[in-house]
Amino acid sequence: MLEISILGASDSVGKSCVMISDNDHRRVVLDAGIQLHPRRTGRVSTPPEVDKYAEDTDAVLISHAHIDHSGYTPALYRAGYHGPIHMTTPTKDIVHILWKDHLKIEGPHHYGISHLQTALMKVETHNYRRKFKITNGITAEFLDASHILGSAIILLDWEGTRILYTGDYNDAKTPYHDPIQFPDPDDPIDILITETTNANRRIEGRKTVTANLTKSLLGCYSRGGKAIIPSFALGRSQEIQAYLASDFDSFLHKFPLYVDGMILDMNAVYERYMNEKWVSPRILIELKDKGYRTPFDHEGIHTIDDVAMRMKRFKKRELLIDREQQSIILTTSGMMEGGPVYDYLRMGGNDKKNGLYIVGYQVDGTLGSDIARGEKNLELDNGFGQIFDVSLDLEVQKFQFSGHSSLEGLVQMVQYSSPQKIYAVHGEPSAQEYYAAAVRNLGFEVKTLTSHDTVQM
Ligand SMILES: [Zn+2]
Ligand SMILES: [Zn+2]
Repeated sequence: MLEISILGASDSVGKSCVMISDNDHRRVVLDAGIQLHPRRTGRVSTPPEVDKYAEDTDAVLISHAHIDHSGYTPALYRAGYHGPIHMTTPTKDIVHILWKDHLKIEGPHHYGISHLQTALMKVETHNYRRKFKITNGITAEFLDASHILGSAIILLDWEGTRILYTGDYNDAKTPYHDPIQFPDPDDPIDILITETTNANRRIEGRKTVTANLTKSLLGCYSRGGKAIIPSFALGRSQEIQAYLASDFDSFLHKFPLYVDGMILDMNAVYERYMNEKWVSPRILIELKDKGYRTPFDHEGIHTIDDVAMRMKRFKKRELLIDREQQSIILTTSGMMEGGPVYDYLRMGGNDKKNGLYIVGYQVDGTLGSDIARGEKNLELDNGFGQIFDVSLDLEVQKFQFSGHSSLEGLVQMVQYSSPQKIYAVHGEPSAQEYYAAAVRNLGFEVKTLTSHDTVQM
């Protein structure tokens, strides 16, 4: 008998963690994420309810590097886990950066540096579509999820029962990834555990979204302003750079892009995996035609350190904002919860000519969500304990990029894999309900799960 327990991210997004066990005492954990809270709440991140099982777990598999799927992994070693962590090769490079950054920001609340180091040592990396054994009678395989670099759907074969855990996946074409390839209908799945993030949201096509962004950027250029784009370091930032390198190509010489913050570290990781194993052949051909190794090789794309030599970064930012020349600034943090974007808002937020272009999802309660809703009066710290009052006067626009599957894609996953049982997780209750209705209409059995739910097969 199989038992599936949801230890986090059931009727919400954040701290993804699914546990599967059987009466032969075999136990596997899929994802171990943490949930971050808006900075102003002062709350430390919330872990999934996995500690009490850590000691008796055989294997942990991580679908992708996002902190809400991977961030609690090092803490498992504090809780008594001894086994391996399976992930794709790029995911290891990315979590290395994200875990260290998290420890630096939050302190050793869930884990210390020694647990982090142990976790990295215990990582076993895999390519896509390579079956590997995780314990007696159980094998696993990572399939490309097209969500971010290295993201995977996890396919388990548990003594002949095929379980597909989607993690986060994308059915749209994006610069680095082709739309997800659905499972082979001739090889049906027994149990599907699926994300439902966007089930009740209409997703605008990438073409429409980028056309709107282009229009706003050109408007900012013609006003003679600076276009500030706060963005998640991983994934969305590389996507924006790829768009700008193709849509603005030669124009980037007149309207150069400056990249700041952790995006630079993530660019370096992307650079290492710019090959057919991990990105679409489409982008590799485009790059070859242009003679670039990556989209951020472009002569019009610079780092903040190109602004001036030997100067504190905030000084460089000041120089960049005060320059006559128009420019685009791509910087962290994506939800404006800290990072260099505070310097840019402090120095350029009250200038009408400038623009603030939001390209990522903003969680309620974050500064980014307040600004997107029209908040103009901010208190921003400068990273050295000083607080500044900032009154925003720049243009603010929001663009709906999404890394998650549309409802059509979620339904297609069901049609291709014909599962006997479906469990909907990783979505607001309304999204889960919307999903369940759509899938039941097709005659499939679906259960929406809430935290701590356990189902027996
Ligand atoms: Zn994700
Ligand atoms: Zn997620």
